Amino acid sequence: MRLFLNGVVDEIEPITARMRRVRIAGPRLRDLTWVPGTHIRLLVGDPRSPRSWVRGLLRTYTIWDHSPDGYLDLCILDHPAAGPGALWARRVRPGDPAAFTAPEGRLVLRADAPYHLFAGDETAAVAFGALHRALPPSAAAYGAVVADGPADRLPPARTGHLTWTYRPGELVDAVRALNLPAEPGVAYLAGEARTCQAVRDHLVRERGWSRRDVVVKPFWAPGRRGMD
Ligand SMILES: Cc1cc2nc3c(=O)[nH]c(=O)nc-3n(C[C@H](O)[C@H](O)[C@H](O)COP(=O)(O)OP(=O)(O)OC[C@H]3O[C@@H](n4cnc5c(N)ncnc54)[C@H](O)[C@@H]3O)c2cc1C
Repeated sequence: MRLFLNGVVDEIEPITARMRRVRIAGPRLRDLTWVPGTHIRLLVGDPRSPRSWVRGLLRTYTIWDHSPDGYLDLCILDHPAAGPGALWARRVRPGDPAAFTAPEGRLVLRADAPYHLFAGDETAAVAFGALHRALPPSAAAYGAVVADGPADRLPPARTGHLTWTYRPGELVDAVRALNLPAEPGVAYLAGEARTCQAVRDHLVRERGWSRRDVVVKPFWAPGRRGMD
């Protein structure tokens, strides 16, 4: 049984052409333990509606930012197949209640990494922003993100240095083109499931990385609903 925290939607702004930053505030968020890269499960359906139970009530979102002043920010993509998550972000208004689970997840920085490699799509860039901001200044980081176009880029000051590639360009080709050190680092792969798989295969088979050094977290897959 999941325990839900409650907050109120406080602010909504477009952060890219297709993504909204939604701020959820409330006293319970002051003492939230947040590790950058972790996510919450957000109640996006009406629990009183039978349709919500069929389509799924919960969707998972990375915490873009958290403040001990008592708020957290999510960045939610409005994608063409718009399921309950995208519709929630499209319709939500300041003052609306929000219920969500405590932060969890394993897409978090490995302190012992010789260097960090981030690769994924525009949804993964939310996690990469949080991870980048948590890196010590001395850490070396590389990154590639695939998106529809330049209007999908999250603010560079908040995501660090990422190479953006636009579809039909492929993420795996962008990673292949990165001038990485000869020795493996630690890779964080997120976003569309098969794209993550292709990048992992490239790192393991072509660059000789160990699977242990590749953290993979699929965020979504065509035809699947609400991945956890
Ligand atoms: C750990 C984790 C962290 C995540 N963090 C974020 C985040 O920070 N921001 C964010 O926007 N999403 C994030 N996601 C994805 C999010 O949980 C939802 O899957 C997404 O919002 C789609 O939900 P939906 O209800 O709109 O569509 P669903 O009902 O889940 O899916 C309907 C269909 O839409 C299509 N679809 C789903 N996502 C996309 C997409 N990105 N592009 C194109 N088509 C798509 C698929 O074909 C799918 O079958 C994360 C997922 C996980 C597992």
